[in-house]
Amino acid sequence: MSSSRLQPKPGVMDIDIYVPGKSSAPAGVKLHKLSSNETPLGPSPAAQDAIAVLAGKLELYPDGSAAELKRAIAEVHGLNAENLICGNGSDELLSLIGSAYLQPGDEVVFTEHGFLMYRIVALSNSAVPVTVPETDERADVDAILAAVTDRTRVVFLANPNNPTGTYLPIDEVRRLHSGLPASTLLVLDAAYAEYVRRNDYESGMELAASAGNVIVTRTFSKIHGLAALRIGWAYASREIIQTLERVRGPFNVNALAIAAGAAAMRDRSHIDRSIEHNDKWLTWLTGELESLGLRVTPSVGNFILIHFPDEAGKSAKEADAFLTQRGLILRAVTGYGFPNALRMTVGLEESNQAVVDALKDFLAKAGG
Ligand SMILES: *Cc1c(COP(=O)(O)O)cnc(C)c1O
Repeated sequence: MSSSRLQPKPGVMDIDIYVPGKSSAPAGVKLHKLSSNETPLGPSPAAQDAIAVLAGKLELYPDGSAAELKRAIAEVHGLNAENLICGNGSDELLSLIGSAYLQPGDEVVFTEHGFLMYRIVALSNSAVPVTVPETDERADVDAILAAVTDRTRVVFLANPNNPTGTYLPIDEVRRLHSGLPASTLLVLDAAYAEYVRRNDYESGMELAASAGNVIVTRTFSKIHGLAALRIGWAYASREIIQTLERVRGPFNVNALAIAAGAAAMRDRSHIDRSIEHNDKWLTWLTGELESLGLRVTPSVGNFILIHFPDEAGKSAKEADAFLTQRGLILRAVTGYGFPNALRMTVGLEESNQAVVDALKDFLAKAGG
């Protein structure tokens, strides 16, 4: 019998434990939580009603196939339900991709300011994370392709990306796919797809339908306002879906999530209202912050990345402390490679105005 102590798999101890956005304000100050890209408009009332109906039936296991939820997604998005899989948040789907496809030593490619989950998925499967430089805070297809080797099993691309809010047009995504070997899986993480209003953007459903090595992941946590329920979904070839089906837990999506998710998906008017709200305030915030002299990365999502001057008294860290005193909770993004920026979720008018006012005061206090 071995006398050595219990050890996790190689890679696991290299993972930095994920630190979520802050969620509290000082005592007596109104909280404006703008740190996790949650919608300020909340979920569809139909989703809340669906949960109320189920409150008396919590002893029952959910439908392990989440058929009702898949039916709603398939209908609204015009997709084949057999090409769908649902998960406990899209984070779980990213993990399932890792469990199903990654072996020790495989390489996993993603961009330098890419979503933190990609590194976690790679390391938890003893695979090697390979980070690729971005150009102007945007994924660079040539740089990604240059990093691909015959050991690359998975390429993760958040499109639009978090925390930058930048995106790749579908032509660029197709060019990326064309340059990958058929044995490499391209994961298009489209958590913010609903918010994007650009004619050259698509989340990649057609590519996923026609290619055998593309999967698009989506979420109910952002525009649908159901982050608390943990619901994600993905669309890919039958072969990929049937592979992921083998490694998921039998009841990975709970009954409340299935019912509320289906109701939220069908409430188009709530989604349209959310898009309209975001469009208006994203534009307003970008303009106001730029007129304060702050650089903002051009975003197509429901959040913006605000860059601070590299000067004592004006740093992101100091701005964060100043905003927090007023109950304005933004997201520090040092872990994403931006030590001097803060990410702000687009909020209600009152919150957006409060952030602009506070930053005006902050910069004035620091001496213009
Ligand atoms: C918020 C977000 C998700 C969604 O994760 P869930 O597990 O579905 O809540 C996925 N990818 C990115 C890039 C995100 O920012």
